[in-house]
Parts: sequence; C-alpha cells; structure tokens
Amino acid sequence: MAGKRPAELIAAIATAHGRGGIGVVRLSGLDLGSIAGLLTGSIPKPRVATLTHFLDAAGEGIDQGIALYFPAPHSYTGEDVLELQGHGGPVVLQLLLQRCLELGARLAEPGEFTRRAYLNDKLDLVQAEAVADLIEAATAAAARSAARALAGTFSRAAHGLVERLIALRMLIEATLDFPEEGIDFLQQADAVGQLAALAGDVSQLLCRARQGSLLRNGLHVVLAGQPNVGKSSLLNRLAGEERAIVTAVPGTTRDALRETIQICGIPLHIIDTAGLRESEDEVERIGIARSWEEIARADVVLQLLDAWTGTTLADQEIAARLPKNVEKIALFNKCDLMNHPGRREERDGQVALWLSAKTGEGIEALEKELLRVAGWQAGTEDVFLARERHLAALEKTLAYLQAAQTQSSRVELFAEELRLAQEALGGITGEFTPDELLGEIFSRFCIGK
Ligand code: GDP
Repeated sequence: MAGKRPAELIAAIATAHGRGGIGVVRLSGLDLGSIAGLLTGSIPKPRVATLTHFLDAAGEGIDQGIALYFPAPHSYTGEDVLELQGHGGPVVLQLLLQRCLELGARLAEPGEFTRRAYLNDKLDLVQAEAVADLIEAATAAAARSAARALAGTFSRAAHGLVERLIALRMLIEATLDFPEEGIDFLQQADAVGQLAALAGDVSQLLCRARQGSLLRNGLHVVLAGQPNVGKSSLLNRLAGEERAIVTAVPGTTRDALRETIQICGIPLHIIDTAGLRESEDEVERIGIARSWEEIARADVVLQLLDAWTGTTLADQEIAARLPKNVEKIALFNKCDLMNHPGRREERDGQVALWLSAKTGEGIEALEKELLRVAGWQAGTEDVFLARERHLAALEKTLAYLQAAQTQSSRVELFAEELRLAQEALGGITGEFTPDELLGEIFSRFCIGK
C-alpha cells in the first residue's frame, strides 16, 4: 500500500458544472455521522435513499433531496461517504457545498475520492485509472474496454502473472543457497520452460494492452501532398461533412485542420495540412512549415497524389522528405477521372491505394488499411484500455524476462532479472508505485471523482 490513510473530511460537487435535473454533493471522511445529522436533521439510515431537507447553519432548508449514507468500510472510498442529491442548479449546489465546508470539510482535490478508494484497497491502480478513462472515453468501444478494466479484468491478468513470477522466484531463490546443486534442480523443475511460458504470456498481455492503448489514444493521421490533390476533400469524405474548405484554387488550406473520426471504435485524429509546395506567400510558407511539423509528429502519413497526372517530381521530393520511421500510405486520388476502379498495390512494403474522395470509391479500403497499419485486430472483447504507463511496465517486464532467459546458467543473475521483472509488473496494479506517480495519475481526474 502506498501512503497512509488520510483522515481529513473532503467534499465536492460530483456532477458536471451547469444546470441539470439533479446535482450531487459528495463527502468522504471518518465519522461522518454527526455531520450528516447536522446537514439533514438526523443520521440517514445506511445505504437507504432518504428524502430529506438539506439544512443551513440556522436550520433553514437549502434544498430538499435524497441523502445516501454509506458508513465505512462499505463505500466507494472505504471511509464514511455521504451523498446529497439535490436539484442541479449551480447556486443551490454551491450553497450546499459551502455548508459542508463550514462544517469542517475541505474542498476535495481532483481524483481525491478515487485516490482514497485506492489507498483503502477498494480499487487497485489499474481500476482507479479505468474510472478516469471511462469518464473520458471518446468512443463506445473505449468505454466498454475501460469498464472491463474497472471490473478488474486487466488487474486479474497482471496479478496472475505476478503470482507465477513469484512462484518461479521462490524456486530460484531456494536454489541460491546450494549453488552446486542449483543448476540441476532448476533443470528438474523446468525453470527455463516456466520462464519461457511466462514471457510468452507477458508478450500476449502486452499485445492486448497495445490494442487498448490504440482505443484510448487513437492514431494521428496526417494528410500530406501538393496543393489541389484533394486533401481537404478526403478529410471531408472521411469526416462525412463539409469541414475543410474545398476549392479548385491551390493553397486554400493555409493551416492544419483537424477532425477526429472513428473506425471500429478507434479514434483517428486526421490532420489536413497546407499543400506542400514552394511558395512566395509568407502566410502560405508558415502554413507549409507547420505541415512539416505535423508530419514529424504523425503516426501515419497519407501522401496524396493525383491519379490523373500520376507521380510528379514534386511528389517524389515530398516522398523523399517524409520521415523514415513513420508509416506511409500513397493515395492516388481522383481515380474517378480515369474511369479507374479503386485498387491496392504493394511494392517493397510500400502500399498504394487508388481512390476518389469525390465519389467515395476506395474509402472503405483506406479505412481498412489504416486499421491494418495501426495494428488493430478484429474483435475487441478482451482489450483493456491501457495507458502508456502500462505498456512501458509490460515492455520492461518482458525485457527482464528475456534477459533472465540468457542467464539460465548463472543462478544469481537469473534471480536478479526475475526480481526486476516482478517489480516492473507489480507497478501496473500499484504494488510498487512511487507517490509522485500517484499524484500525477490522480491529478488528471475531475473534481468530485
Ligand atoms: P487540396 O488542396 O489538396 O486540399 O485539394 P481539395 O480537396 O481542395 O481539392 C482540389 C480540387 O480537386 C477540388 O476542385 C476538388 O473538387 C477536386 N477533387 C478532390 N478530390 C477529387 C476526386 O476524387 N475526384 C475529382 N474528380 N475531383 C476531386
């Protein structure tokens, strides 16, 4: 467990700012009973919705609503929790919150309720993160995947691996005292086989986590190419609306336009850039410089070319300037002009698609290609909404396990690599997580959660 049990009483408006049918003020702390009594006139029956008046210092009603009292430890935070569900007006909720502060509560920090739930072992770190991810999910698939992580699917998988790692470590540590017999003993117990199986399962979990990371963060796709090849038209086609300005005058898109769409639940952040060409116009030149900055940050660059004119020298120059380590797909747009059906070609690992932003031909093939490039595998049922932190921990674990595989004849080093692997893996669910990281994780939550 990280940190110690906080005792201060905290309060916050838990519902979104603005007007709504219902607004909730939430309190958490130790011994909330007496404060509940002052706020509602009597201590509400535990876990029973109680219609009551919420009272100010003079005993006057601030509002009438439902009080829900969850005495510790059977509450979200593991402390006493009181939820006051009143009318969802900003002023009335503020008055109610003010009354809670008068009674000794302090304003909760972002994520503080969930942090306490974590500190009181109600949730592990992955589940706590899943709470924030569920609230912020950008697509239905991301929400489902966060809900799975919250239900503990990811945590159970990580814990299962940690347990196997501990069992293997115990076996190795036991042999450390008898170095001469150690190697034979390890062979008998098939330590190497167990390690290989474990490394295989960590690698599989990493693969699922990478899928989840895609669902969470999406993919940055940049449309690049000369002016007038149809970048804005393609953005509009993908987004399904007239967003970028499309004209036949080269250089219309002076600055990057962004649109987030989703394919199979994966958010694709599509960025339309200013046409890449030599220009005398100062404003256009700034736009072009920005385009190159966007390209440098992209996960995938779609280089558009005109199917009618074919590849020009200028297109070749652009292709040569694209970063080496980024995925690229060449798109020959305007294939409708050539009475040409959409098609796909692959040469030396470089994919080219023929399509038409105008008629929509080949757009489905492009979407499929984007999913392929992203590494998306169909069927999202066992995907976890993973964060960079989880990926890094799994990658580190795998690296230590692989290092251990090369040390199987040197028991001390073998044992040390396994210890490091366990530490990295345990970091996922919060078993070895420094306080600064906890601060960083919870500060990104909304207040009241
Ligand atoms: P951008 O400068 O690369 O953003 O190009 P635009 O999207 O503004 O398109 C330039 C011109 O090409 C416009 O007149 C579009 O209508 C036209 N255009 C774009 N895509 C297609 C297409 O697939 N087929 C045809 N025939 N014309 C297109």
